[in-house]
Amino acid sequence: METVFSGIQPSGELHLGNYLGAVRNWVRMQEQYRCFICIVDYHAITQNYDPETLAQRTLEMATDLLACGIDPERTVLFVQSSVPEHTELCWILNTVTPFGDLGRMTQFKDKSEKQTDNINAGLFNYPVLQAADIILYKATVVPVGADQLQHLELAREIVRRFNARWGEYFPEPKALLSSTPKILGLDGQAKMSKSIGNTIALGEDDDSIRQKLATAATDPARVRRKDPGNPDVCNIHTLHTFFSDEERIQWVRSGCMTAGIGCFDCKKALADNLIAHLQPIRERRAHLQANPKEVGEILRQGARKARTVARQTVSEVRQRVGLWS
Ligand code: ADP
Repeated sequence: METVFSGIQPSGELHLGNYLGAVRNWVRMQEQYRCFICIVDYHAITQNYDPETLAQRTLEMATDLLACGIDPERTVLFVQSSVPEHTELCWILNTVTPFGDLGRMTQFKDKSEKQTDNINAGLFNYPVLQAADIILYKATVVPVGADQLQHLELAREIVRRFNARWGEYFPEPKALLSSTPKILGLDGQAKMSKSIGNTIALGEDDDSIRQKLATAATDPARVRRKDPGNPDVCNIHTLHTFFSDEERIQWVRSGCMTAGIGCFDCKKALADNLIAHLQPIRERRAHLQANPKEVGEILRQGARKARTVARQTVSEVRQRVGLWS
């Protein structure tokens, strides 16, 4: 069984973009892979963040992931900073990581531009910690968005350099690109993202979902009710393809193209189906929110399982590197 590693920052509530682009795939992957899902709080502190709420947001992220169907019996769900071997291996990997390569990372450049007051070394070394996250568990499959491909390529380079210097040890991880890398936000233009504020959160209540969909963008060329529309350029139609059955999708397509239905009808049908889809997730979420100790215990057990693997890896690495012990 191949090992999968994926990380997510504790950056607040999950939204439909995270769910369709990443989390739903992790839930499916549990069937076929040995999965490690890590809430990457050490990565989070490289950006400007609120220390008062970080721990709470970490717990909330775990709650959301469990509610979506991450099963702690099959997936090792844990918090990065609970497993100190991540930073230990990161240091060793730093010594085989070319400085120039780190400077070429587009994410480093983008983030540096966004926080000119805080261009810290952690931001620069972010991809090295990411490489450590992955290879600590000898993961070979890493589900990522296209924006992470450059980092994964660097992780592969770090592995090659490690193996060349200290002997063949780590497997090279492969990227597994999401089949739904870009869910658009309610504006129908930008990628759905917390930082843009064009999201529907998984925990959102029915009224809020209906209200947000009511004002969401559709085919911009369909101005009046009687104008026919083009479902292929309408984000509401795209969302139907995830949450509605085949019959309903056909109803949307033909109704839109012939002006048989209006955007209002189409959005109402989407809201009904989306709310029905989210219902079991929200029920599990409410249960876990009422029992935060249960979530904490799952994370502690996850960290124990992760540490067992991580300790073994680091102990073998220390020997290869020639450190005294
Ligand atoms: P945000 O942009 O809202 O801060 P993150 O960057 O924390 O979201 O993303 C977490 C995961 O969810 C990543 O794997 C990312 O690729 C995926 N993801 C985020 N937004 C979207 C989206 N709009 N469409 C598809 N996948 C997404």
